[in-house]
Parts: sequence; C-alpha cells; structure tokens
Amino acid sequence: MLRKICPVCGRETDVLIEGVCPDCYRLTHRIIDVPNEVNVLMCYSCGAYFINGRWSRGIRSLEKLVSSKIRVKGIVSDMSIRVFRDEAKIKVKGKASELMPNSYEEEYTVKLMFKRDLCPSCRAELMEKEEAIIQLRLIGGDLSEFKAKVMDIVRMTLAKGEDRGRVIKIEDVNGGFDIKITNQRLARSIALNVHRELPSFMQETSKVVGYRGDKRIEKRSISIHLIGLSKGEVININGADYLIKSLHKDHVDLVKLSDGSLVGIKYSKLTQAKLSQVKDYSISCSDGKVIISINGLQYTLNNVNLICPQ
Ligand SMILES: [Zn+2]
Ligand SMILES: [Zn+2]
Repeated sequence: MLRKICPVCGRETDVLIEGVCPDCYRLTHRIIDVPNEVNVLMCYSCGAYFINGRWSRGIRSLEKLVSSKIRVKGIVSDMSIRVFRDEAKIKVKGKASELMPNSYEEEYTVKLMFKRDLCPSCRAELMEKEEAIIQLRLIGGDLSEFKAKVMDIVRMTLAKGEDRGRVIKIEDVNGGFDIKITNQRLARSIALNVHRELPSFMQETSKVVGYRGDKRIEKRSISIHLIGLSKGEVININGADYLIKSLHKDHVDLVKLSDGSLVGIKYSKLTQAKLSQVKDYSISCSDGKVIISINGLQYTLNNVNLICPQ
C-alpha cells in the first residue's frame, strides 16, 4: 500500500481523512457533539425534573435529558452517561470517521444548570395546605353543645362568602377541637365571630413555617378558650371554691365561698388557672341566705340574690 504523508504532523499514514492523518483528524473532530451546559427545571418540593414536556422523577430521567442533547458526528460503538450532583459524564467509544482504522474512547462533561420551580401537583398541594388553625378549648360546660354552636358560626361565616378559602378538617383533641383552614383571613373571620357570639378569650400567634420563593409562608394559630361556665354553678379555682355570680364579655364575677368576698377574674387569667367543676354540691335557701354544702362543708352566703329570688 502506498504510504502518504500528513501535511499537519509530517508523519507517514495509510489513510488521509479530509487531507490529514487519523491522529490529526481526531484532534479537531469529536465523536459526538454535546453542549457544555444543560438547563434543568426542577421541582424544589418533590425533586421531579421537567423533561421533554413532562415532569418525571429519578436520576434516569436526567440521563435521558442529557442523552437527548447528544448529536452523533462520527461512529459510536458504545456510550454511557452518569449523573452525579450537577454534572453528567459521558463516555463514548467509537471514532470520528469511519475511515479511521481503530476505535477509541472519549469523555465529555456536561454541567447541569438547575432552575428551581414547583411542579403542578406540588403547587396544588401547597395551595391546599393549611395556613391557619383555630384551637378551641372549653373551660367548663358541655363540649358537644359548644361544638355545635361553633359549627353553626363556621357555617354562617362560610355562607357569607366574604373570604376565600375552606375548612380542611375539624379534629377533636383533649379538652376541645381544632379547625384547620386554608386561608388566614377566613380563619380570622371565623374566630372573631365565635369570640363575638360566645363568652371567650382569644389569642393569636403566627409563625413562619417555610418559604415559597421569596415569600414567607406563615401559619397562623388562633386559640380560643370558650367559657362554658354558667351562672349559679360552683367551681374550684386553684383549690378554692367559688359560686359563679355573673358572666361578662371578658370576665366572670364570683363569690368566694370561704369568706363570701366578691372576686372578678378576667378570662385571660382563667385560662391559666387550675379550674375544675365541683360536681357534688347542694344549694338551699333560707331567709335570703344561700347555703352551699360541698362534701360535708357548709358555706352560708349573704346578699347573694342569685339563687333565691325574693
Ligand atoms: Zn497528522
Ligand atoms: Zn413537585
């Protein structure tokens, strides 16, 4: 066979490809063509990738994405793609031209440029996520009766339709129940209506639970202590027995049984007190006096015209 001389490197060669030897051809012609960088849209919530018009999960889908960007220029006999973090490594076995006598290996690196977004299902899920919770706790009284009253107020508020959002669920907890709501404004409206309609003490807190882009996601908690006590009832507060004289918007007036003194306690204070309802007691009246017996103890109260009307 006639030996030829490569005009670039001056070496003898069996074949000239586009006028140069295979080694010189290889320096300027790669087996495949692939971009240095590939943009990948990624869901920051579930980690899915947006590839060829679809959201799909897993590293295999990234390999497929990189594979779809490859343009074969020469002859490929074998190829593998490995993704690690934000890089894809491509190993190719083949040759840049079919005129080349031998195959060889080439390696390519593709940088994955992640752009973060939310996939539609995560977006929907986040929208549905509770943004507010109303925690209702009952002090005294019958829970199911109060729950029915509160639910009437909830329905009434929803029916007005002034605030967007919905009630996600109502959960029974020890001493009361929680209402989970998608919208903070709606939660506020419901809570204010409950507070307005029923003797109660209301407190509001808000805490940041995460970020959606630059926007803070806050969860608002509204705690409402419903006062289920009623006039004429005997209760025990921090170890002392009291007769409930009257209930007001923000406080309760009581008669301390041990000395007959009149005490006013704010509901905000009552929520922190150790309070229990006294179950076994009897009340009787004689000559305008009220006699209350609790477990053998007898209290006589003057000037309490609550139970014994003249
Ligand atoms: Zn050459
Ligand atoms: Zn997602």
